Amino acid sequence: MKTQQSYLNNSYIKEMGATVLAIKPEGQNRYRLLLDSTVFYPMGGGQPTDQGKLTHENWTGDVYQVMIKDGEVWHYANETVIPEVNWLVRGAINWERRYQNMRRHSAGHLVDFALYQLGYSPKLLMPFKGDHGKKPFIMYRGTTDEDIKQKLEDKTNELVGRSLKFTTEFQPFEKLQQEAIYLQPGLPNNKPLRTLRLETVGAVADGGTQVGSTKEVGEVKITAIEKKEGNTVIYYQIG
Ligand SMILES: [Zn+2]
Repeated sequence: MKTQQSYLNNSYIKEMGATVLAIKPEGQNRYRLLLDSTVFYPMGGGQPTDQGKLTHENWTGDVYQVMIKDGEVWHYANETVIPEVNWLVRGAINWERRYQNMRRHSAGHLVDFALYQLGYSPKLLMPFKGDHGKKPFIMYRGTTDEDIKQKLEDKTNELVGRSLKFTTEFQPFEKLQQEAIYLQPGLPNNKPLRTLRLETVGAVADGGTQVGSTKEVGEVKITAIEKKEGNTVIYYQIG
């Protein structure tokens, strides 16, 4: 990958300077740009895309979508003037949108950590996937006959109340394997992987943006728990 992704080390960087490495047309007045570094999060891992602006002198591109395509991070922008390779651009993400996404994403992990602390995950309920967009949920393989909604919400908010730190670190697969409370299938074992830790609770593999403390997540509501074809779907909301 040609782009250095700064959010992997620090989710709070909002602006950047970068060099344009490549440009491709994307229909009328739309282009996608490849940059040597970026603060923009490309949609993935259940987290929505960042949006924002790229500027160069009098040129401003509205970045409406960022995604990984053919192994590279592409910034999709609207602008009538065609940008040029080697331009130095300034970039700024729509921080309000990103911060909301970070809080929602961290909230999903927090509910997951709470479920682990209650003893349901990862054995009885095996973490499977999540989505942290407008109707956020986390999904598990397996079900339980118990009604866990209230105690899961209480445990999650207890972790919020304790203002525990979220931190990230890249480490070899073997180290992550020793430390993680579970590993999702399909992780590459030949490169350093990013570990997300919740202070005093545990660690998982994760590539998304995160808030620094459970306090920033704020109160979490478990809105519904549904059982579907042997799976459990936990819907949640943040304030
Ligand atoms: Zn995640």
